[in-house]
Amino acid sequence: MATSLRHDLLQMGIAPGDVVLARAAYRAVGRAGDGGGDFLAELLDLVGDQGTVACLAFTKGGWWWQAGQLPPFTPATPSYAGALPNAMLAHPGVHRSTHPQCSFVAIGRHARALTAGHGPGDGAYEPMRKLIALDAKMLVAGCVAVNPGFTTTHLAEVDLGLHRRRILPWLSVSRYLDDQGQVRVFHRRDPGCCSSAYWKFYGAYVRAGILTTGKVGNAYAICAPAAQCYAIERDILARDSRFNLCDSPDCLTCNALRWDRLHRWPLWLWRRARRQSPTWFRRPDG
Ligand SMILES: [Zn+2]
Repeated sequence: MATSLRHDLLQMGIAPGDVVLARAAYRAVGRAGDGGGDFLAELLDLVGDQGTVACLAFTKGGWWWQAGQLPPFTPATPSYAGALPNAMLAHPGVHRSTHPQCSFVAIGRHARALTAGHGPGDGAYEPMRKLIALDAKMLVAGCVAVNPGFTTTHLAEVDLGLHRRRILPWLSVSRYLDDQGQVRVFHRRDPGCCSSAYWKFYGAYVRAGILTTGKVGNAYAICAPAAQCYAIERDILARDSRFNLCDSPDCLTCNALRWDRLHRWPLWLWRRARRQSPTWFRRPDG
C-alpha cells in the first residue's frame, strides 16, 4: 500500500501544474510513510516546473509604543508561521513579498508575479486575489484544529469593509527598510478579524462539494479551491457580518478589539483581571 506523501497529496487533489497555497504543521506532517520524504520537496516535485507553491510568511509586529525596539523587516526576517515558510525562505528559488507584517513566499512558475507589488503600501491579503485568479488550491495540513479555515476569508472581510470594525488597527506597527535603506515605521490599516471560528464555513464548503479531507503524512488535512471558497465566504459574511466571531470569552479580538463588540469590554477586562490576580477575587476566609 502506498503511504508516501506524494500519494497523500494526490489524494488531497493536488496535481502537476497546480498553484497551491500551503499551510502545514511541518513536523506533524513530517517524513511519514515509506518513501515519504520531505513535505516541501514532495509538494514542489508534484506540482513540477509549471506549478507554484505559496505560503504565508507573516512576521510579528508590536504596539506603536514598542516601535523603537522592533528589528526592521527584511526579506530574511524569519516568519512566526511555522517551519514551512521558513523552509521555503531557505530555498534558492524563493520569492518573497515585502509587506512588513504579511509577506507571502512562493516558489515556481507564478512565484514572482504572486509576490510582486505587495509592499508596505499594499493590502495585506492582496496576493490572495492573485491566487484566486490563478485558480489556486488551498491546503492545510496538521494545523486544522488550531488554525482552521482558509486565508481567502481575510480577503473577503477586507472586501466587505469588515476590517474597519477593528479598533485602532494602526496601533499595530512594524519597522522596515525603504528603498533608500532608511528605517520606516509601518502602521497596519487592514488587520484580519479573528480566524478561530473559520471552521464555521466548512458546512458551506461541504454543501458546495468543494472540501477534500484526508491525511498528509500523519496529519489530518483539508484542501479546497480558493475561488469557490472566497465566493462562499464573501456571500455568508455579506449576509451576516458577525458570522466570523468566535465563542471564546477570552478572545481579545472578538471581545475587545471590534467596534461592534465594544459592549463586551467590561466582561473581558473582568475575566482578564480575575485570571491574572485570582487572589483579589477570593472570598475572605471564614
Ligand atoms: Zn475570536
